[in-house]
Amino acid sequence: MAKPTRRTIVKLAAAAAGAALMPRSAAAQQRIVLNDASRLSPTPVARHWVVGADPEAAFIERLRRELKEAQAGNRAFVVGGARHSMGGQSLYRNATAATFETKLCELDANAKTYRTHAGSRWIYLLQELDRAGFSPAVMQSNADFATAGTLSVNAHGWPVPFGPFGATVRSFRLMLAGGAIVTCSPAENAELYGLVQGGYGLFGVILDMVLDMVPNALLRPTNVLMPAGEFGPRFVAAINGDPSVQMAYGRLSVARRDFLRQALMITYRPVPNQPARLPPVSAGGLMSSVSREIFRAQIGSETGKRARWAAETVGNPAISSGIATRSTLMNEPVANLAGRDPLRTDILHEYFVAPDRFDEFLTACREVILRSRQDLLNVTLRYVKADTVSALSYAPVPRIAAVMLFSQSVTPEAEADMLAMTEALVERVIAIGGSFYLPYRLHARRDQVERAYPGVARFVAKKREIDPGLLFRNTMWDVYFA
Ligand SMILES: Cc1cc2nc3c(=O)[nH]c(=O)nc-3n(C[C@H](O)[C@H](O)[C@H](O)COP(=O)(O)OP(=O)(O)OC[C@H]3O[C@@H](n4cnc5c(N)ncnc54)[C@H](O)[C@@H]3O)c2cc1C
Repeated sequence: MAKPTRRTIVKLAAAAAGAALMPRSAAAQQRIVLNDASRLSPTPVARHWVVGADPEAAFIERLRRELKEAQAGNRAFVVGGARHSMGGQSLYRNATAATFETKLCELDANAKTYRTHAGSRWIYLLQELDRAGFSPAVMQSNADFATAGTLSVNAHGWPVPFGPFGATVRSFRLMLAGGAIVTCSPAENAELYGLVQGGYGLFGVILDMVLDMVPNALLRPTNVLMPAGEFGPRFVAAINGDPSVQMAYGRLSVARRDFLRQALMITYRPVPNQPARLPPVSAGGLMSSVSREIFRAQIGSETGKRARWAAETVGNPAISSGIATRSTLMNEPVANLAGRDPLRTDILHEYFVAPDRFDEFLTACREVILRSRQDLLNVTLRYVKADTVSALSYAPVPRIAAVMLFSQSVTPEAEADMLAMTEALVERVIAIGGSFYLPYRLHARRDQVERAYPGVARFVAKKREIDPGLLFRNTMWDVYFA
């Protein structure tokens, strides 16, 4: 063991003296503070239960007990998966907080489905399905998240031509506030099935689900560079006009010189002669063509942003075929591009607009974002088929999803600037008939949420009917719905 220095001895002595001076109860009671991916939502909780290995009988009994105890203690109960939502959607002050880290994957190759537990991470599921020649029908662009988190935000990804994740959920089991377990599917408890998809954990605890899977395949990308204003209709035509397209996304230039004026469309089709044995799933993903260093060199740098765009549009396609399996393309950890500067945080925004209004959306973004002090590092574009099932549907008609990644300083001034920019951008998107995504910072105004999501009144009324004691609450409930 290293010899303690004078400085460490002084520090330890000061800490011990401080603890001795604290009232006994305060010294004994260490507060549990949880946070989410934004690092801007520190929330003290009364209890933190990490749900590990056992996904069956003992877990269900313990869950019932924890719900009862929370009710008896007049506390809320909130569940988290990977807590990558960014505005306290998986947190509530002084609640009982559970973190699901369970694992389960039971395949039914004939039905092309698999049963999995609420806490299973996609990284694990991709590997389990890959071994049997399958991959998930839909998941997010990163693989760190939990399946119940995915269902509760009703995530979408870049496999096409799919709607949000909920469209690939055959059924799930939900524990209600009183401890009863109900199965929800399009045929059974259909209303609850739609409320829980994108329901942010407000109706009960998701236990497990049965999900669609599709055959894995080796895919080759085709890149097309175009003026950004043409992207919406051309993207939809490329996807709808060719059933062999299995994955598709777009990118926008973010350098100030041509801010959101160029778009890159990437479509993936199976290679003509599929090998008898596909290479096993490895780390890949949407961002794998850009190294972390190039991506992070964009912060505060016009040169960095131009270099990254050149790498993505010209350099990488020239040096690599980009051929990879569907499963490898979906297998991207968040850490791949994560920032390491403690004084900055990555904040995501996402907007959903009709393909034929995409150009108006770009105009709005240019006007609003360039007036702010925020640093936009990336825009990924996706296609989302219409979702008429979930109560809070962000794509009641087919939409282009624009996922934006900003690098924000961790200061009150930057947070206020981000709030003002978000409000302005949301307003412009609503004006062109679009909507915005709810798992990120809670910066939109409540009236904006209600205008972007006409189903809010029914959603809230149903919440109060199904969970009248409001056991299931999170920060988003208080800010947007309470
Ligand atoms: C880097 C990054 C990339 C992303 N990419 C995409 C993308 O491509 N597409 C997309 O759609 N979204 C994307 N997102 C958003 C992401 O899908 C959501 O933040 C999602 O919630 C993450 O899953 P999680 O396990 O972290 O959920 P958490 O943040 O832990 O939870 C989300 C919600 O689910 C509820 N919940 C969790 N478990 C349960 C349960 N067992 N029962 C009931 N409710 C539960 C929580 O209470 C909370 O309201 C991205 C986010 C990040 C940070």
